[in-house]
Amino acid sequence: MTDKWIYLDNNATTMVAPEVAETIRVYLDKFWNPSSMYEPALALARELDDARASVARSLGAVHSDEIIFTSCATESNNAALVGGLRAALKADPKRRRIITSRVEHPAILEVCRRLEKDGYPVDWIGVDRAGKIDLRAYVQALRPGETALVSMMHANNETGVIFPIEKLSRLAKQTDPKITFHVDATQTVAKLPINLGAVPKSDADRGAFGYVDMLSFSGHKIHAPKGVGVLYVKRGTAFEHFMIGGHQEKGRRAGTENVPYIMGLAKALSLDLATLAESSARIEALRDRLQAGIEARVPYVVVNGKDAPRTPNTLNVAVYGAEGEAILALMSANGVCVSSGSACTSGSLEPSHVLTAMKVPEGALQGNFRFSLSRYTTEEEIDRALEVFVDVVATIRKTSSKWDDAKGEPIS
Ligand code: PLP
Repeated sequence: MTDKWIYLDNNATTMVAPEVAETIRVYLDKFWNPSSMYEPALALARELDDARASVARSLGAVHSDEIIFTSCATESNNAALVGGLRAALKADPKRRRIITSRVEHPAILEVCRRLEKDGYPVDWIGVDRAGKIDLRAYVQALRPGETALVSMMHANNETGVIFPIEKLSRLAKQTDPKITFHVDATQTVAKLPINLGAVPKSDADRGAFGYVDMLSFSGHKIHAPKGVGVLYVKRGTAFEHFMIGGHQEKGRRAGTENVPYIMGLAKALSLDLATLAESSARIEALRDRLQAGIEARVPYVVVNGKDAPRTPNTLNVAVYGAEGEAILALMSANGVCVSSGSACTSGSLEPSHVLTAMKVPEGALQGNFRFSLSRYTTEEEIDRALEVFVDVVATIRKTSSKWDDAKGEPIS
């Protein structure tokens, strides 16, 4: 075991930035309840509103009251889907259909499955081998007067593949302006440009999210801690609040605000956005260096999502002739933290629903990895991770029942 970890699992969570930790420390001492009516609490409430305004500005939201603080992206997604559907149904009981993709995070997938069970039809849109959304199926699924909600992720957490939200949201609004369009931007806020106030002039106008009504993300993916998230709800959007209780968050999310973490999230967002272009280019160059190294030195690997636009920090690799868990364990033993695309459920490995939807060949489904970088990743770390990966794959393949070591090829 090494004494220093190389952390390449930033799509799972990120380290808290030192500046963010410092901000949080300051607000832990300001313990007041921002709903109370004495001066220090009122002052804290004003600071909370400043943080709200800062987050709104960072995302290009027109009004700061469009920002609702939540506990995480999962909560934001639940609130958006359930709250959006309830409000749509109230206005028109015939509007009960939902559109989403087959490759969403479980925080959307499972909510949609539950709603489907409860009798609300869901149109599940597939992807092609590159991970790109099936546009024809999407357009066919948009039904004027019937579709209540569309929920699409901005980028996939496993592959980094980016969906063309600018185009998907425009098509929805052109079909029926009453369709509510929600985006799960958990993997893209502070990684890709997002401007909620800009209507796209063309489909190539990246980040112009003016047709988007709701957007979710979590603090812990942007160097703030776990336990805080955001739901953006554009003014005028049909939305019935989901958490019921007190009147916090202007009556749209009950529960005393987690002020220190909210202040931390606002700080993290401003830090990330201040250097977005520069850090994105650096991270992408490191990701591409790792990818090129793997492709050059490890035979029989496939980079999933490579033929689609991807987030700069994500690299999803499928390895033929090697068991995923064995690679993961050896990488970890050598001090490198990466994620497997397969979820281990009750002792049996289930292939990733994302890669299954992309029709990744059977032989590559179990040996699947995600490397995800951050602005703290260094070139030395990437070079060391590559060396470890090359050695680990060679070691595992020597004894793998799926690999013919003499021939140097997978056993089909
Ligand atoms: N949506 C996406 C795309 C994600 O990647 C994640 C977490 O990985 C979530 C939602 C859920 O985030 P949280 O666990 O912070 O609620």
